[in-house]
Amino acid sequence: MLYNDGSTPENYKCAICGDTGVKLWRPYMDDSPLICASCAEERQSARTYNPIEKWGKGTSLNGETCWIGTFLRKSDENGNMVMVNFPMPRWTVNEEGCIPSSDGFGPEGEWLSNTDQLSVDLVDVSESYSSGSISMVPAVPTEDGEMWGYTSVPEEGCVWWKKLPTHRTE
Ligand SMILES: [Zn+2]
Repeated sequence: MLYNDGSTPENYKCAICGDTGVKLWRPYMDDSPLICASCAEERQSARTYNPIEKWGKGTSLNGETCWIGTFLRKSDENGNMVMVNFPMPRWTVNEEGCIPSSDGFGPEGEWLSNTDQLSVDLVDVSESYSSGSISMVPAVPTEDGEMWGYTSVPEEGCVWWKKLPTHRTE
């Protein structure tokens, strides 16, 4: 079906703005609501990361030279050294459907890694999601109109989802 021709099912539609023909995300544990990248960007939840204080060259388990980071720490009221949480900047979803993960910055100031999971606040969208931070994962339909589990999406499903535009192109 759709995996070959790049089309989307009829009900593959953003529950907020009604957009179709773009990548959609669903709550990790549910098949709805489906939301698009633009609506997720407007509703993104605050996230934090643990910054690295300094980077140095080290040796990995297989003997190769690699970067090793030391987390920034400060002492708490009991004198214990604890990691520091920094707020993450606001994100926009890239063409692959990813945002910076909470791994923070690498030795050259780049984000260390990306994730296709979006943390969003759906309080105004669904009464079932009142926590203010819902983890949304790529919504990839099966041939039967169900959704693939996050870790069981077949390769052709991943390819289909990635090829869909992230944002509407006018
Ligand atoms: Zn939308």
